[in-house]
Amino acid sequence: MGISSRAINGLSRREFLIMTSLATAGLATGCATNPVTGRSQFMMVDEKQEIALDHKQSPHQFSADYGTTQDLRLQNYVQATGRRLAVNTHRPQMPYDFHCVNANYINAYAFPGGSIAATRGIMLSMENEAGLASLLGHELGHVNARHAAEQMSKGQLTQAIVGGISVLAGTQSAALGDLAGQLGQISAGALLASYSRDNEREADALGMTYMVGAGYGSEGFVGLMEMLNRMSKHKSTTVDLLFATHPMSQERYDTAVQTANTKYKAALKNPLYKERYMDHTADLRAKKDAIEEIQNGEKMLAERKYDAASGHFRQALKKAPEDYVALCMISISNLAQKQYAVGRQYAEMAQAVYPQEAQAYHLSGFANIQLKDFEKAYDEFDTYEKRLPGNPNTVFFKGYCQEGMNHIEPAAAEYHRYLQVVQQGQYAQHAYKRLVDWGYIK
Ligand SMILES: [Zn+2]
Repeated sequence: MGISSRAINGLSRREFLIMTSLATAGLATGCATNPVTGRSQFMMVDEKQEIALDHKQSPHQFSADYGTTQDLRLQNYVQATGRRLAVNTHRPQMPYDFHCVNANYINAYAFPGGSIAATRGIMLSMENEAGLASLLGHELGHVNARHAAEQMSKGQLTQAIVGGISVLAGTQSAALGDLAGQLGQISAGALLASYSRDNEREADALGMTYMVGAGYGSEGFVGLMEMLNRMSKHKSTTVDLLFATHPMSQERYDTAVQTANTKYKAALKNPLYKERYMDHTADLRAKKDAIEEIQNGEKMLAERKYDAASGHFRQALKKAPEDYVALCMISISNLAQKQYAVGRQYAEMAQAVYPQEAQAYHLSGFANIQLKDFEKAYDEFDTYEKRLPGNPNTVFFKGYCQEGMNHIEPAAAEYHRYLQVVQQGQYAQHAYKRLVDWGYIK
């Protein structure tokens, strides 16, 4: 099976050639001094490409984190705090967008076009608005210093930009019997940039500039660093991804203390807005116990201790019966134990509490395939694709459902569509073999 030029997955042919010819291209042409950091950067990606990549990938990351919170007071607060900082950054023209996502592990991240998110987990760990401004300021620092674009230009993110999520889909769908592959989810962090220690230094420096510029006390930045430094010393699965992507160090903390007391001494005692933070996170903090149960359940799930995991999720649901994450998680735990009917039931409950979010449709689609209800499964995957286009796994499953219903022509169409973006892995082999069997490929 040859890899066609259509594998480029949405990038124009010109963009693809730029990316793939890096190794042989005249490298000197891409070197320029970044006006934000004053550092010479090798850059082969322009602003339009940064925004296009962001728009293609960030929705998948947000959905992998169970969507933007339905707590509108909290969401609007994160958005407003981010925007207050964004107008005074070095790239105010970027289409910034700030989210609090439902995931319960502790993390924050930025995509190169300015889509930025903080999880419920990290929102629960902070104590004032200046800390939130510091966190968002740090992420804005990565966008403004163009760290992700720089990584792409060096080829470190080439796979991610060229293949988009199709490369991940191809490598993750290990076997048809593999649960994680069949659930069709993008694994945590697969789409996130991993920053170097130098990147972190630059993002911290810019982050403090931005939050002080918006009127916050620089002590708030020190507070955030103090919290991260403390967390980084206690190994925990809830912070693994945060520190894998944003390396923490004593030096970052020390630098923050020093900068706050010298360069930004005048801003040291500016307000931290603790009360305002507490007001806007009140509903989230009311769910603290439930979120801790989910965190414990996720840990058990990762260790494949499904009974224990389900126990924690049930406890979480007692405290917060309409929590989308808890409902999805208990569905996953049941599906993993081959309790497909129960898994489907929880997935449908999850859909009912958050119909706009995509993940739960994939879960019920998977359950319905296992229960041999291919027609219903097809509808679920179709709904998923309408909510979140661009995940090739969905296309494969739609073909698989059509095949299950003996609808050869539509099945072949979906398999063909799948093979246009993914040419490796078990799914691709299955799709290819069917197209040969059915006479579509001679
Ligand atoms: Zn960082």
